[in-house]
Order: sequence, then structure tokens, then C-alpha cells
Amino acid sequence: MTRQDYYYHERSAKDPRWYDWKWQFAHRITNAEQLSRVLPLTEEEKRDISSCLSRFRMAITPYYLSLIRSTDKNDPVLRQCVPSIEETYDCPDDLPDPLNEEGDSPVPHIVHRYPDRVLFLVTYKCSVYCRHCTRRRTVGEEDRIINEKELSAALGYIRQHPEIRDVLISGGDPLVMSTGRLEHIISSLRAIPNVDIIRIGTRVPVVMPMRITDELLEMLKKYHPIWINTHFNHPNEITPDSERACGMIVDAGIPLGNQSVLLKGINDDPAVMKELVLKLVHMRVRPYYLYQCDLSRGISHFRTNVDVGIKIMHELTGNISGYAVPKYVIDAPGGGGKIPVSYNYVISRDDREVVMENFRGKMYKYPQPDKNE
Ligand SMILES: *Cc1c(COP(=O)(O)O)cnc(C)c1O
Ligand code: SF4
Repeated sequence: MTRQDYYYHERSAKDPRWYDWKWQFAHRITNAEQLSRVLPLTEEEKRDISSCLSRFRMAITPYYLSLIRSTDKNDPVLRQCVPSIEETYDCPDDLPDPLNEEGDSPVPHIVHRYPDRVLFLVTYKCSVYCRHCTRRRTVGEEDRIINEKELSAALGYIRQHPEIRDVLISGGDPLVMSTGRLEHIISSLRAIPNVDIIRIGTRVPVVMPMRITDELLEMLKKYHPIWINTHFNHPNEITPDSERACGMIVDAGIPLGNQSVLLKGINDDPAVMKELVLKLVHMRVRPYYLYQCDLSRGISHFRTNVDVGIKIMHELTGNISGYAVPKYVIDAPGGGGKIPVSYNYVISRDDREVVMENFRGKMYKYPQPDKNE
């Protein structure tokens, strides 16, 4: 019996609280001692984990831990949630705030980089602290959610900038807040006339799917149009529980997208990525972005060469349904925003014609209409 079978069938069947998200949250594994009771760890590994934890926090829900299939340290779920000593390595390229979010923050908790939309960071808490988190400079550092004074300053900014029509609620993970607290934020946003779309970025469907409850969705449905983006990185994260959570979200009329991060040794392989995106589409989740791994501190061991991302995109494009193909982007260091990176299908282009390569590598020409006519 694998570890996963053990957790699924033994723990979930025997422990009626398994499907209670508050139980999952309260029973998270947060130190090396607790982890060593569920994963075989040597004394050295325990020491390594503890030294990482002095820099970056750990939290793993029992559910997400149950998705670890092998303890050989290459397991894609294990690598995303269990600290490794590589996190203590300072790579010269590392930046504390790689996307310069502080520089684009006119009021605390708001990042206003693009003309018509803002990022609204409402909490620093998450249910699982991902080892590759881009916002690890703040996420997990303080166990705090936005207070009433900060909330009214942020709402004031959005109200005073009528060009803002799309607010992306993120953090941290907004869905670790109570439904009541979240409703307070969402209803206040909905009361602002210029706010059209409200989006939520959350990893809860992947790491704590029992948080997706009828109560939560009944609340969200009152404030449409609501869109949600989640964050699956590997097919092993797709389980009957995460599939049910995604189905409930979509059934509530909320379009559900996915943002993956390209991670070395986890999903930097066309076959793995293809399996992931096809399973996402099967669950009615639209692959939205594939991010090149950022320059955040202590995650250089997760970064791949950009050529790897371009090759994966080339192998997906045309070979599978366009719905299953995300957009590969680099969030430009220094705050330039997301820049699409793609295989170059256009070989040449002049006033007379465009010469192109198709997904199979065959050449085609498109004659241009005369510019002067
Ligand atoms: C990613 C991001 C958004 C949303 O961008 P979309 O391309 O519309 O998904 C908005 N603001 C900031 C600062 C972002 O990083
Ligand atoms: S859920 Fe998102 S914000 Fe939270 S640790 Fe993971 S990547 Fe970071």
C-alpha cells in the first residue's frame, strides 16, 4: 500500500474531521519534529529543515501531505512543500522583491502596475507554504490579514481611480480567511461602481480542497462576475477531492483558470506538462499562465533555462487543443510585468509576404495585401 492509499483510505475513512477544512488547517505540519513522524527523515535532514525554517516557514496540510507518493526526495509534491537545504543558498541573481511590487504600491496592500487592474493582497497567510513562492518575502512572514483601516485605504484608492475595472484578490491565500471576512471585502469591492471583474487567486483547490464548501460558493455567487485562478503544478495534485472542488467552483458559474510555475525536476518535462493541462481541461479548468520561475530568494534550484519552457510550449502548441495550452510568460524582474515568451513561428515578414513554420516544422507563406490599396 502506498502512503497515498494509506492517507486516503485509512485516515479519511477513520477520521471524520478529514473533510473539515478547519481541522486540516489546525493540523498542519509546521516543524521538523512533526514531519519526522510522518516521513522518514535522518537527523541531518531534520537539521537541514530546521535551518531552512529559520528563514522561511513551513506548513503542510495533512491532505497535501497525503499526496506524497514516494519519500525519495524527488517526489513532485514533497519538493513543493518540504524545505530543502538549497533554500539557504544565496544565488547572486536572487532579489528580495523580484517584481518590484513595493515600487508599484501606491497604498499598502495594493499593487497597481497595469492600466485597468490591481492586485489586492489581503492576507499573508496560506494553508501550505509553497517552497517556490514568489512572494515569500511577505507570505508566511506575518500571520496577518488586512485590518479595517488598511482595507478602507485600499478601497478608497480603487474608488478614486475609475480606470480600475478588475481587482485581483490575492495574498497569501484569500480563501484561508473566514467566509464572513472575505464577504466583507468582496461586498465592499462590489459596491464600487468602477469595479467590474473581481478575481481571486487561491491554491486552496490544490492544497486544501475541503475549503471549497457550498457556504463559500453561495456567498461568492452573490457578487458575480467572479473569476478564480488556482495553481496546480503537477498531475499528482489532481485527485477526486481536488476534482470535486474545481467542479463545484465551475458549477457556481465561476470561470476557473490555472497558473503553473515551471519548476525544475517537477514539471519541466513536456510529457508531465501535457498530462497536467489535459487533466485540467477535463476538470473544466482553463490553463491560463505558465510562469517562468521568479528570482525570489532561495529558489534558484527550481529555475530552469527559458529554452526548456519554450520547448514545452512548442510541444503543446498544435498537438493538443488550444484550450489546454497556457501562455508562457516571464514576469520581468524590476516590475516590467508579464511578458509572453514563445517559439518563433514567423521566419520572415516583409511588405510582400510572411514566411512561417507550422507546429510540425513545415514552411508556409502568407501573401500580404498591398499596403497602398
Ligand atoms: C499578474 C498581475 C495582474 C493580473 O494580470 P493578468 O494578465 O490580467 O492576469 C495584475 N497586477 C499585477 C501586479 C500582476 O502581477
Ligand atoms: S499558495 Fe501562493 S502565496 Fe501561498 S505560499 Fe503558495 S505560491 Fe505563495
